[in-house]
Amino acid sequence: MSLLIFNVTIFTNNDKVGIISNGALAIEKSQIIAIGPQQDLKKKYSHFSQIDGRGRLLMPGFVNAHMHFYSTFARGIAMQGSPKNFSEILQMLWWKLDSVLDLEAVYYSALVPAISAVKNGITSVIDHHASPNAVDGSLDKIEDALVKVGLRASLCYEVSDRDGQAISDAGLAENERYIKKCQALKNQDEAHLFDGMIGLHASFTLENNTLEKAGALIQNLEKGCHIHVLEDKADQKVTQKKYGMGVINRLRYFQILRPETIAVHCIHLSEKDKDSLAESGAIVVHNPQSNMNNTVGRTDIFGLLERGIRLGLGTDGMSPNLMNDIRAANLIHKHDLRQSTVGWTEIEKMVLQNNPAIFEKVTGQQVGKLEEGALADVILVDYFAPTPLTADNFWGHYLFGIADALVDTTIINGKIVMQNKEIVGIDELAIARKSIEVAKQVWDKF
Ligand SMILES: [Zn+2]
Repeated sequence: MSLLIFNVTIFTNNDKVGIISNGALAIEKSQIIAIGPQQDLKKKYSHFSQIDGRGRLLMPGFVNAHMHFYSTFARGIAMQGSPKNFSEILQMLWWKLDSVLDLEAVYYSALVPAISAVKNGITSVIDHHASPNAVDGSLDKIEDALVKVGLRASLCYEVSDRDGQAISDAGLAENERYIKKCQALKNQDEAHLFDGMIGLHASFTLENNTLEKAGALIQNLEKGCHIHVLEDKADQKVTQKKYGMGVINRLRYFQILRPETIAVHCIHLSEKDKDSLAESGAIVVHNPQSNMNNTVGRTDIFGLLERGIRLGLGTDGMSPNLMNDIRAANLIHKHDLRQSTVGWTEIEKMVLQNNPAIFEKVTGQQVGKLEEGALADVILVDYFAPTPLTADNFWGHYLFGIADALVDTTIINGKIVMQNKEIVGIDELAIARKSIEVAKQVWDKF
C-alpha cells in the first residue's frame, strides 16, 4: 500500500527532528519512505492514497513489553475463597484458569485484547502465554487472532514443571517450533509481523533439567527467554530451599540471563543481584499496576537504570492498554518514596526509548520512531496541543493530555488496521458475543 498522511503535527521520537508542524508522512508497503513538511511531500506523493489528519498528532505506536493475552477470561470470574498471598493468587486464579483453556479459548482470549490494544495505540506486544492442557499449536492460535486485527507481536509459551515433565517438554517444543516457523518466514520478509522467544514461568516452578534444556535451546536458536523473575519473595525462598542458590545466580548458572532475555518484574533483588543482572545484559520489564494489585512490592527502577539495565514497561495482563501502566509508573515511585520529583525522565525513557529498543532486541525490527526506513507503525491521535509542544516537553503533553486523547487511526506494517476509530474488517459486537459463549465454557470448567 502507498499512503500519504498530511495535515498533521508529527512527533518523530528520534534524535534528529522532534516535532514537525504542518507535516506529512509517506508510507510504501511496510516502511516509512519520507517524512517532512507537507508542502513538499504532497507534491511528490500526490499519486498515493491520502489521509487528511485534520491537524491531529501523528506519532509512533507503542510497545507493550510484557502481556498475557490469556488473562482475558479472568474478567468477572468468580473465585472460590480469597487468596491471602501471591502464591495463593497463582493457585486459586491463574493456574486454575490457564489449565481450562482450550485452543478456541486461547484464540478469543487473544482476539479481544488485540482489538483493545489497537484502539489504544499499541502496535507491538511481547506476550507470555500459558494453556497447559492445550500447548501444541497454541502460539499459532494467538497468531491467528492477531493477524485478524493486524497487531505485531513476539510470542512465547510459558514453560513450567508445575504440571509435570510431559507438559513442560511440550512447552519447550512449542516455543522451538514457533521460533523456527517465524525465522523461516522472516527470511522471506523482514517485516513479518511475528517472532518467538523461549517462555519460562519462573525459577520456583522450573526444575534444573528444564532450565538446562531451555539454556541449550536459546544458544541454538539465538533467541532469549521471557521469564518472571523475583516477582514475589516466594520465588527466592523456594529456589533457595529446593536448589540451594538464589534466583539470579541460578538463572545465570543455566545461562538463561543474556542480552536477548526479558526478566519480568525483578522486585526482590539484592544489590549484588542488581550488579549481576546488569553484568548479564538482560532486559528487565516493570509492571506497576500488576505489582500493586498483587501487593508484591515495587521494582527499584532507579537502581536498575543507574546500572545501565535496559528497563521497559509492560502491563502483565492487567490491561491491553499501556497508558494505564504509564500513569501507574508515573505515580507509584513518587508515592512510595514521598518524592515528587522522581519517576519523570525514567518513565519517559522506559516508554519512548527502551520499549522500542527491547522489541528490536528480541525481534530485530525497528519500531517506535518515525523516520525514513523505519517500519510504518504509526498512530493518529485526537490531540490538539493547547500549549506550545516541543520535543523537550512532549512527555508533559503525553501524561496530561495525549494519554487521555482518543486514537483515531492505527497503522501497523503500513496497513490501516483502524480508521475513524473503527477496526477494519472486524465486527466487534459479534466477536464479543462469541467470546461470551467461549468464556462461559471456560468458567464452567474453572
Ligand atoms: Zn507476567
